[in-house]
Amino acid sequence: PAIPNAMPHIEPSRHADAIVVAPATADFMAKLAHGLANDALSNLCLARNHAAVPLLIAPAMNVEMWQAPATQRNLVTLKSDGVAVLGPASGLQACGEVGAGRLLDVVHIVSEVVAHFQPKRLAGKRVLITAGPTFEPIDPVRGITNVSSGKMGYAIAQAAWEAGAQVTLVSGPTALTAPYGVTTVPVQTAQQMLAAVHTLAPKCEAFLSVAAVADWRVAAPAEQKIKKTADSALPVLEFTENPDILATVAAAYPALYCVGFAAETENIEAFAQVKRLKKGVPMIVANDAKAAMGSDDNALSVFTDGSVERLPLQVKIAAARALVGLLAKHLQT
Ligand code: C5P
Repeated sequence: PAIPNAMPHIEPSRHADAIVVAPATADFMAKLAHGLANDALSNLCLARNHAAVPLLIAPAMNVEMWQAPATQRNLVTLKSDGVAVLGPASGLQACGEVGAGRLLDVVHIVSEVVAHFQPKRLAGKRVLITAGPTFEPIDPVRGITNVSSGKMGYAIAQAAWEAGAQVTLVSGPTALTAPYGVTTVPVQTAQQMLAAVHTLAPKCEAFLSVAAVADWRVAAPAEQKIKKTADSALPVLEFTENPDILATVAAAYPALYCVGFAAETENIEAFAQVKRLKKGVPMIVANDAKAAMGSDDNALSVFTDGSVERLPLQVKIAAARALVGLLAKHLQT
């Protein structure tokens, strides 16, 4: 399109919130590092308002080109100039060689660009999150579980990563894709979830228990599939109580800031404060179980000692970002 002021090397960047170069070649990185401006793109990058328009690049090149001293030198220069470098990923390359230099997946580039605009409220913090249901076996082919999509916990994991935290997500079985940037530890049962959380908790500053943990498990799951009998006798299941992961962890690690969730179907707010005290945690997030389950939206009420913040109904990632904001505030004090 025609540029009214005939300054096509300058004008487009004046209306941009960011410039993303994907893929960025070794040659382009070298040009950027040296301030060359002999083509439209390098010219546009050099002419941008450096304070107002962030530059993000996603390198893509052969592994030897990536590892070359010149490229690594340019990388250091670019980072110290404030350029955000996304990836590169490692693996099989177009040339058939294997190693670092693959263009980051496009969806991951989008995640990085979105994260770039989020305030780094949890920078340097290590955050542990549980999400999804647990699955308690009855026999090798059957089990009992809770209704939980995992969407809220996964959204919180994403929001905490966007805020700069190092995030570990211990997840029961869900249909969701593991969030980018987050270490995901898959588990099935409440006991496995408790074991994973116990291992990880001492290395974290915050724990958000979002999982819908089954309250009971079958006391002695059958080793083989339970068969129908000729006389149609019904199997009898005996249950035993699962550990309360949140309460156990909160009691074991007093320095860990623990956040519980309360999904209720009635008297939501009254039950939430009672639950906060019973579990011995500084923060409980209440939501309406029926409205939240499986939905893409959620309205959260965040209870701490002496305060309640009501977050409006919004998509779960927006609710998660708001919750992360509150968590960051409480972690500081
Ligand atoms: O007692 P209730 O299940 O309503 O409490 C919900 C909160 O406790 C959630 O944060 C949930 O993750 C956690 N919880 C747990 N272990 C259980 C049951 C619930 O960590 N066995």
